[in-house]
Amino acid sequence: MNNREYIEEAERDLLHTYNRYQIVLDRGEGVYLYDIEGKKYLDFVSGIAVFALGYGNKEYNDALKGQIDKVIHTSNYYYNVPAIEAARKLKKVSGMDRVFFTNSGAEAVEGAIKAARKYAYLKDGCQDHEIIAMEHSFHGRTMGALSVTGNPKYREPFEPMIGHIKFARLNDFESVLSQVTEKTCAILLEPVQGEGGLFPAGEDFLKKLRQLCDERDILLMFDEIQCGMGRTGYMYAWQRFGVKPDIMTTAKALGCGVPVGAFLMTEKTAAHSLAAGDHGTTYGGNPLAAAAVEKVLDLFEKDHIIEHVREIAPYLEERLDELAGRYDCILERRGAGLMQGLVFDRPVNGVINKALEMGLILINAGADIIRFVPPLVITREHVDEMTSILEDCIRSSI
Ligand SMILES: *Cc1c(COP(=O)(O)O)cnc(C)c1O
Repeated sequence: MNNREYIEEAERDLLHTYNRYQIVLDRGEGVYLYDIEGKKYLDFVSGIAVFALGYGNKEYNDALKGQIDKVIHTSNYYYNVPAIEAARKLKKVSGMDRVFFTNSGAEAVEGAIKAARKYAYLKDGCQDHEIIAMEHSFHGRTMGALSVTGNPKYREPFEPMIGHIKFARLNDFESVLSQVTEKTCAILLEPVQGEGGLFPAGEDFLKKLRQLCDERDILLMFDEIQCGMGRTGYMYAWQRFGVKPDIMTTAKALGCGVPVGAFLMTEKTAAHSLAAGDHGTTYGGNPLAAAAVEKVLDLFEKDHIIEHVREIAPYLEERLDELAGRYDCILERRGAGLMQGLVFDRPVNGVINKALEMGLILINAGADIIRFVPPLVITREHVDEMTSILEDCIRSSI
C-alpha cells in the first residue's frame, strides 16, 4: 500500500481525535525520518520532545533488545533490577529522593495530584484541599491531568473536572497569592510551558513561590515532562535557578520512545504522602521501560548531552532571531534551550504543511506558534538546514 491508501485506511479505522499531517512515517536515522515511500525529513519535533538521542542509537537499541530477550514484564509486586538501577540514576540527576514509575506523562501528573491530596489529608483529615495551577498550562488528557490544564477549550466538553482546582497566571505572583487559602495543598506549574506557548517561568516568580510554599506548608509541584531531560540545558529546568520542587513529574524523553514517565518527591514529602495500597500500576517501571530509562540516563552522561545542548541552543536562538528580524509576520522568538517557539501574527499551519512538503518536520504550539523541540543531538548544520528550508516556506506561503 502507498501513503494515500494507508491514510485512507487509518481514517476509516482509528478514532478521529487528531488532525494528522498527511505522511506515514516508517523509520528513523539520526535526526532524519523516512516515510513509507522513502522520502526523507529533517525532524525538528522528535515525537514532541521525546526522541532526544536521535533515531537508531545503537547502544540504546541493543539495551532494549537485550532486555526483551531476558524479560519484558514481571509486575510491581516483585522487584526488578532495571527499575532499581533506573530509579537510582534518576534520583542522582534530579536530586529528588523517591521515584514512582508510570506509563505516561498524564499518569505522572495523576500521581502527583494524589500525592499532594494525601499529604494534606494526613495533616487535617479534610477532603476539600485545593490545587493552584496556571493558565495556559498543559498537563495531559486524563481527568485529573485535564482538571489542572489551564485551557478551558480542552476541559469544557468533559466537565465536571475533579474539583477544587484554581488557576493563576504564570509569572504573576500576586495572582497566585490571591488564590491561596488555608485549603491550598499544592501549586503546580511547568518551569517552561510547552503546549501553552513556550513561556518560561521567571527566576523571581519561582523563588517567591518556593518561599510561599515553605511558609504555608504547601507543596510546590513542577511538571518537567516537556522541559525536563536536558532540553533547556539543565537536566531539569528548575535546576537553572535552583528552585527545587517537592514533587516533580517527568516523561517524554525519559524513555526516548518507550512509553514511560515518573513522579518523584523529596523524602520529606514522601514520608507524609502515598503509602502501600494508595497507588499502583500494572506496567509502570516494568523491566523493558526501566531498561530504556537506565540506558537513556547512561547515554546522557556518556555523550555529554547537557553540554551539547548548552552549546547548540544559543546557535538555534540566533538563527531564529535572524528570521524573526527579517519577516514582519514573526512577532517574537521565545523559549529556553532546545525548546523554542516562533510566534507569528497569523496561523502557522500553512508554513508547517509547506515544510513537510519540503522535507522538514515542524509542529505548532497553539495556532500561531511554530515550536522547535528537535532531538538534543542536532548540530549547527542541522540548524542551518532547518532555517534555510523554513525561510523558503515562509516566503512561499505567507
Ligand atoms: C506531554 C505533556 C504531558 C502529558 O504527557 P502524556 O505522556 O502525553 O500523557 C503532561 N505535561 C506536559 C508539560 C507535557 O508536555
